[in-house]
Amino acid sequence: MTKIHKQPYRLPPPLIPKELLGMGYTCSSCSRQNQIDWITPQPFPKQPIQHIGGNNHYVPASITQVCPCGHFNHIPFPTKASESTWGLFGDEAEREFQEGELPGVESKAHFFTISLATIHRDSALQFQQKLSDLKQAVRPDRAPSEWQLHMTNVWNLPPNTDGFALADKLEKVRFIRNVASLLQKFRPDLFTINVSSCRVLSENDEWRKLVKTNKQEVFATALITSLHLVRSNNKSLIWNFDHNVPPEKRNGSEGWAEEVFLGLQYSPVFTWLSAGSLVQSPRFHIPGSHYLLEVADALSFLVARDFEQRTKGRLSDFPSSLTGVGHYQAFDENGSLSFRWNNGLPFDKFYPRLLTTKRRSK
Ligand SMILES: [Zn+2]
Repeated sequence: MTKIHKQPYRLPPPLIPKELLGMGYTCSSCSRQNQIDWITPQPFPKQPIQHIGGNNHYVPASITQVCPCGHFNHIPFPTKASESTWGLFGDEAEREFQEGELPGVESKAHFFTISLATIHRDSALQFQQKLSDLKQAVRPDRAPSEWQLHMTNVWNLPPNTDGFALADKLEKVRFIRNVASLLQKFRPDLFTINVSSCRVLSENDEWRKLVKTNKQEVFATALITSLHLVRSNNKSLIWNFDHNVPPEKRNGSEGWAEEVFLGLQYSPVFTWLSAGSLVQSPRFHIPGSHYLLEVADALSFLVARDFEQRTKGRLSDFPSSLTGVGHYQAFDENGSLSFRWNNGLPFDKFYPRLLTTKRRSK
């Protein structure tokens, strides 16, 4: 087995929550006042260690900082209670734009988004039932639990195929809008986080690399943000994602997700945010195998559609604002992260440069 600190990992994005900026410590050797370096990775990943023969974990809650005098300072972080554990379910969507397709952008561009969803247990059963009813109505011949809802499939489906009772575009739009409204009805018990990013290919970049970087950055940000939000509420979490590669084709091609997670464990910010709770590597599931994966799929689909339509100067037939208020985040042109609680993707705020007044015919 490869030693853990020899395993490949991706450097975490330099995201530092505001409240941590300027935080300092006193060197225990020379008494110098230093600021904590939140960016430089720790020499080893801070991973929970399971006790032999038990279910308990030892969770690292401290970091090491080297003073200019050369002394290694051990800095313990405050820990927080974990009243309960939230299962967060995530899924992604992406769009590729050719040269000149985005307003004012001459090169190719890649849009990537991840949504995470969870629901309060008091509402979970009721929500699941309502979603199941919607699925039943649209595909009457099969039990709703036997098939997974993927919005892209629904949208691209030829009329009345595969047992779907969707005769035309209008009926598809109505169905998608109904699912979106269901999400809205269950706010605030239904809680979602959406992270998105649009990267433009520069002359010195390779397309494949750009796509990979975009995905990794959004994924790492989704993990950090959700950890931040959940731990601020004294809860712990477990991440669940759709595995978008079929089992027979998996040869470590989604290994990057694990490398991103391992990279986060090197980050002092991640140790701070974990605040003593057990934060385990994300779990990957069969796509849509949990109703909250269907919710995450739907939200990512709506956000990607919003983005695509707005850049063309028109509104989506099923805007993400129908899903009610969620937590949205995006990288701006300078690479810094903005966030807001909003009724749908705040396109004007996040992507002002891509706003266009030009209306093209449909
Ligand atoms: Zn010192």
